[in-house]
Amino acid sequence: MTEKVYEIAVLKGDGIGPEVVDEALKVLEVVQQSGGPACHFETHPCGATCYLEQGDPLPVATVEACRQADAVLLGAMGLPHVRWPDGTEMRPQVDLRFKLDLYAGVRPIYLYAASHTPLQGLEAGDIDMIILRENVEGLFASMNAGIELHGEVAVDTMVITRLGTERVVRYAFELAQERGRDPMMVTCVDKANIFRSMAFFRGIYDQVAGDYPEIKRDYAYVDAMALYLVQRPQHYDVMVSENMYGDILSDLAAGLVGGMGMAPSGDIGPDAGVFQPSHGTAPDIAGQGIANPVGTILSAAMMLKWLGGRFDDIQAREGARRIEAAVRRVMQVPGAGTPDLGGRMTTWSARPISKARCSTTQATSARVRSSSLYRSTA
Ligand code: ATP
Repeated sequence: MTEKVYEIAVLKGDGIGPEVVDEALKVLEVVQQSGGPACHFETHPCGATCYLEQGDPLPVATVEACRQADAVLLGAMGLPHVRWPDGTEMRPQVDLRFKLDLYAGVRPIYLYAASHTPLQGLEAGDIDMIILRENVEGLFASMNAGIELHGEVAVDTMVITRLGTERVVRYAFELAQERGRDPMMVTCVDKANIFRSMAFFRGIYDQVAGDYPEIKRDYAYVDAMALYLVQRPQHYDVMVSENMYGDILSDLAAGLVGGMGMAPSGDIGPDAGVFQPSHGTAPDIAGQGIANPVGTILSAAMMLKWLGGRFDDIQAREGARRIEAAVRRVMQVPGAGTPDLGGRMTTWSARPISKARCSTTQATSARVRSSSLYRSTA
């Protein structure tokens, strides 16, 4: 039987996007060299820079390549000075969620070292939760389609559908089951005391929860959840919310475990998976070599895990496990990490590695440098 070669579409994007994606690619190459799954990486243009060059931040050919690929690895997109005529920034990564129906925004939040959190008295592993963000409706349904009336009134609408809510809530319960914590728990985060749409969301949560009697139900209003996340983050297992609430809470939660550079994500749909760090393009630090690549490296691990499940591939699942183990190990070293973690490392390290086993198209430079992360796993 010939070995499966995964086709991975790589969308590096803008700002620190290319910097962090290059590090994740190096890690994936090392995983492959040591018996992991084989991948073929192909880079495609996308983002604000692409708009400046080609007049389109998300070319049709790039979307088609993402559809054809087994998975997509994405950096970050958008630049503050590149905007649509209405003043909004370009968000092709969000457009891609709609085009590929990536309804489940999976955002794991894990504390790798006590020194990463501003909270006191927590150890590595004490924060371990997943924020599941509905990705294609909610308040983002109005994206690029809000209404402004005569320069006096502007309206964006919260859209909650039965189908959209049912499938994301079910995904949350499946995730909790897969994690198997004691107790397993799914927290419904909403604002059901005020908004009709949110009461509807909660009602559907209750219906789906009925199919999972072994999993504890839990409820919080989104404003209270901002408080609880700071006061007792250890309490949470999986939480599910509409799009905008999940967007805000996942940034807050990233701040509890070291910042945006430590937060991976996977945007999952029925036929596609796009994996990217939760952060944006961070123009304030782009080009300085200090962007933290860990969130992107962990996103690459999520990608392998997802491919492993989808194709029933033990090698891919094992590759994911090894990357996660490597991150855990490196993060325990005192002083390890980029400046956002209080460390002095750069985004890359200078030790060259041997030529990768996998083939790449445009994806990586001929001279592949080693990543600080896999150095200590070798
Ligand atoms: P977006 O709206 O596109 O998600 P954002 O407005 O939330 O983006 P980010 O680009 O994520 O903003 O940056 C927020 C802050 O986090 C900035 O101070 C940035 O420097 C920092 N940051 C983001 N990503 C990283 C990273 N990988 N390493 C270090 N710092 C980062």
